[in-house]
Amino acid sequence: MLAATSFLDRLFDAGILMETGVEGLYARSGAFERVVDGIDRVISRFGDADGAEVVRFPPGMNRMVFEKTGYMKNFPNLAGTVHCFCGDDSGHAEIIAALEAGDDWSRQQALSEIALTPAACYPLYPIAARRGSLPADGRLFDILSYCFRHEPSREATRQQMFRMREYVRMGTPDQVQAFRQMWIDRAGAMVGVFGLEGAVDLANDPFFGRAGRMLKNNQRQQTLKFEMLIPVESVEKPTACMSFNYHQDHFGTLWNIRTATDETAHTACVGFGMERLALAMLRHHGLEIEGWPAPVREALWGAA
Ligand code: AMP
Ligand code: ZN
Repeated sequence: MLAATSFLDRLFDAGILMETGVEGLYARSGAFERVVDGIDRVISRFGDADGAEVVRFPPGMNRMVFEKTGYMKNFPNLAGTVHCFCGDDSGHAEIIAALEAGDDWSRQQALSEIALTPAACYPLYPIAARRGSLPADGRLFDILSYCFRHEPSREATRQQMFRMREYVRMGTPDQVQAFRQMWIDRAGAMVGVFGLEGAVDLANDPFFGRAGRMLKNNQRQQTLKFEMLIPVESVEKPTACMSFNYHQDHFGTLWNIRTATDETAHTACVGFGMERLALAMLRHHGLEIEGWPAPVREALWGAA
């Protein structure tokens, strides 16, 4: 091999990530999980005083909610759905025969009621909507989900299954925009606590296809998405490790979330890529976490 050892290979060699044979699907070591736990704690330290309601999700969501959210329209290439066998003995025999012959065995598989969650906040909106109108000061949630995006890659930071922690705000336009700005301001301080350097920049989601180009432009023009970019794979192309999203009334209209004065609620979320933040720290401070700078270890684990 002529290419220099990649960051991903170094993580494999150090046993921090373990290969599964699928790009972007990795097992994680205890050391990696200690870093993720520490990052989780730092995020809580920044956000706890706001009094968010904690909700934790399984990695799958109601497929009808997934459909209504428009994921297949906007990001069909990234989506993952769960399929199951619902047939009888002859269907089962067909599967076994196909497997033995090395043929496609998916004909007997049918779409189930579950889709893999692509973004942690998607399953939250219908839950919030069912509670009725928002209180006068809106609502704030602290959520975490494993997310799936079908984007196989040799970059350690682009995984197919990864954890996303979010704070999600629902309320008036003023309330949710102030929330987003507060987190953009906090993010700079948080990156400093991690011993990293990063910069916030305007961004867009990877809307699919030709129609997607217009959606990307609109999103940028309306400054709906910002990202915290931190060099991980390279300095020239820093990695989005957090995102700050203003959805306007998109989810409020979709799920009929009402404010206390019976207007359509606006929503915003801040998302933290747990694997990306951990990888950024491993890249900057080294693969031996015992050797990390004392203030960083102190911030993550409370003990030098
Ligand atoms: P997004 O909804 O695209 O803004 O994602 C929120 C955060 O999740 C991003 O800022 C990343 O930190 C993280 N993230 C998104 N896609 C991936 C991926 N393929 N692998 C790892 N982390 C990701
Ligand atoms: Zn979100």
